[in-house]
Amino acid sequence: MNKIYVVGIGPGAYEKMTIEAAETLKRCDCIVGYDVYIDLVRDHFADKKFLSTPMRKEVERCVMAFDEANKDQTVAMICSGDAGVYGMASLIYQVGADYPETEIEIIPGVTAAVSGAAVLGAPLIHDFCLISLSDLLTPWELIESRLKAAAAGDFVVSLYNPSSIKRHDYLQKACDILMDYGKAPETVCGIVKMIGREGQSCETMTLAELRDTKVDMFTTVFIGNSSTMNMNGKMVTPRGYKNV
Ligand code: SAH
Repeated sequence: MNKIYVVGIGPGAYEKMTIEAAETLKRCDCIVGYDVYIDLVRDHFADKKFLSTPMRKEVERCVMAFDEANKDQTVAMICSGDAGVYGMASLIYQVGADYPETEIEIIPGVTAAVSGAAVLGAPLIHDFCLISLSDLLTPWELIESRLKAAAAGDFVVSLYNPSSIKRHDYLQKACDILMDYGKAPETVCGIVKMIGREGQSCETMTLAELRDTKVDMFTTVFIGNSSTMNMNGKMVTPRGYKNV
């Protein structure tokens, strides 16, 4: 029906997808996405047509989705987590400016900060911010200024894209900036790897320890605020209720 749904499929496991996302994928003719995400859903929607492009071919992937929709098809463009959090939702609108006849609808999903927080305990709970350490689309100077502001504001910080082969020391640099701009070295932190996927693991530690920890691109990092506690290995930020 010349429509694109941009669907956040959650962190990985089928059970962590929303019912709305699963129903949308069931209803569509074709599922478009990055290879890794297609592999996560393929078995559950085996009767669909699948189209994929490798990483970094995002514009091509969107054009592919619009070309397919224009054959009077209902297309789902899938993203991990939520499509509006470092996902494809905005690019679909931008590319869609050239395809005014195609309808666009966004279906939200559970983003890594939220699914990872549940693994660690209750680290977010209050004011928090998300910062991506990837400088592919954002200049490093801007990332630095956001890290400084987050530290000054005593936000709980969730870091996406904390590392890659080319950016192996970015987490270390980020931790140094956070400590220079107000976060104590003892700040409680946590990392969660492969959330909702096979091989999920997590660890809690201090900010000083996090600085010297190696993480990969399948990891989401959490840095507490000044009241975040380590309660028997769980990362817990209190909301501030009295008498507890
Ligand atoms: N749209 C996605 C984020 C894409 S950016 C979302 O809303 O979750 C990619 C980054 O997200 C990764 O580098 C990692 O930091 C984080 N991430 C996404 N899925 C993850 C998972 N299953 N486990 C751990 N981290 C994940």
